[in-house]
Amino acid sequence: MEDIRLKDLSLDSILELIKFRNPEQKEFHQAVHEVMETIVPFIKDHKKYQNTGLIERLIEPERSVLFRVPWEDDNGNYRVNRGFRVQFNSALGPYKGGLRFHPSVNLGIVKFLAFEQTFKNSLTGLPLGGGKGGSDFNPRGKSDAEIMRYSQSFMNELHRYVSNVTDVPAGDIGVGEREVGYMFGQYKRLTAEFTGVITGKGLAYGGSKVRTQSTGYGLLYFVNAMLRNRDESIEGKKVVISGSGNVAQFACEKAIDLGAKVVAMSDSNGAIYDKDGIDEEKLEYIKHLKNVKRGRIKEYAEKYNCEYKEINPWNVDCDVALPCAAENEITEKEAKQLVNNNVICVAEGANMPCTVKAIKILQESGVIYAPGKASNAGGVAVSGLEMTQNANRLSWSFNTVDERLINIMQRIHKKCVKYGTNGNQINYLKGANIAGFIKVADAMIAQGNV
Ligand code: NDP
Repeated sequence: MEDIRLKDLSLDSILELIKFRNPEQKEFHQAVHEVMETIVPFIKDHKKYQNTGLIERLIEPERSVLFRVPWEDDNGNYRVNRGFRVQFNSALGPYKGGLRFHPSVNLGIVKFLAFEQTFKNSLTGLPLGGGKGGSDFNPRGKSDAEIMRYSQSFMNELHRYVSNVTDVPAGDIGVGEREVGYMFGQYKRLTAEFTGVITGKGLAYGGSKVRTQSTGYGLLYFVNAMLRNRDESIEGKKVVISGSGNVAQFACEKAIDLGAKVVAMSDSNGAIYDKDGIDEEKLEYIKHLKNVKRGRIKEYAEKYNCEYKEINPWNVDCDVALPCAAENEITEKEAKQLVNNNVICVAEGANMPCTVKAIKILQESGVIYAPGKASNAGGVAVSGLEMTQNANRLSWSFNTVDERLINIMQRIHKKCVKYGTNGNQINYLKGANIAGFIKVADAMIAQGNV
């Protein structure tokens, strides 16, 4: 049998290698495809990135940990789920990336998220490596006591692999302030240390102001920068948002704040369409409905007497579309619907919500498209600021953190423009991939073959 190695510097050979090594991990293949399609031509033009095993090292995680998570449900049944932590790349700093609790979680999904996270964290300009983790545990319908026992059991194992200087997890789908609190408490108990081992903590015990809002707010700061670059503004634009969780809620809040009209939101069962627009009061209802009552978005339609359909929210007339729910929610079909409905901007709040084919359709139709690694980087950026505050035993004001977030998102936008401009068009995907890559690659080369 031949040695397992990259045959040549081409996208096909890279995809062949990762498919051979990681069969079944289709989301990971997709993420590598999306990044390498723009990186390979750049490497071909820049000799210093060739012949260093750089690509092979970039697509192989430094470490993947899989573990058993035993727990007991409220009926006294012994249950078992699977936990994951992928520490992908530490060239720029300690691994950093969230934990996802959702039944769809598997090694391929965690690897795709950790791979993307490496480039995203690089774009923020902060000293953060890339990692991600989670579990196939389904929090839906579980009692608070079950969530606490599960989060504690998860940390009983995870604590061996994380610390404030090696790997600092955060939240993601299914993991919010409640779960972060239970995990932080258990880490503290196991290690007898009060350190910033996890971000997204409550404000009373080391959390940062703006962390809850950061991904959604950052998304809108980025969208505003994209529109301003075309001498337009978000003010008065009709916006459609998928999801109604953390990212979606605060994307909606900032969109309203900046004078846009948000007409649709969704959850995994369906979407509401409110032609009058979701205002602050209606948004407060959604926050209560989803965060406290843990209800369904359908109840919004019943309360405010608007349209509800058991489909995704993309087939409506809009200027700006913000996918903030899950991966691959915009395929070719939805991309065509958006183009037919005259969308001008699609920016990802979620991670990889658009398929490779959907991105091509949007770009070829002249829609300005922002990949999540640029447009949703506000979350990890404020997590990085939480780490700085914890290390210095400080707590910055809301305005201080918000201003830093605005600056970071504007700097990311500038980097995308710098590396993605082609004539009078900006390819944000290319710009984000290349800008993220350069910093990681330079650090890897400087640190030798590790
Ligand atoms: P939440 O758990 O708070 O909310 C997720 C939302 O997406 C819910 O409304 C959920 O609906 C919906 N959803 C989940 N799966 C699907 C699906 N398969 N189809 C349709 N809707 C679905 O998660 P977040 O808001 O934190 O995360 C959303 C996305 O943003 C993810 O891709 C995440 O990786 C990404 N992200 C999050 C960051 C953060 O700071 N939280 C940072 C950067 C990216 P339901 O209530 O029915 O489950």
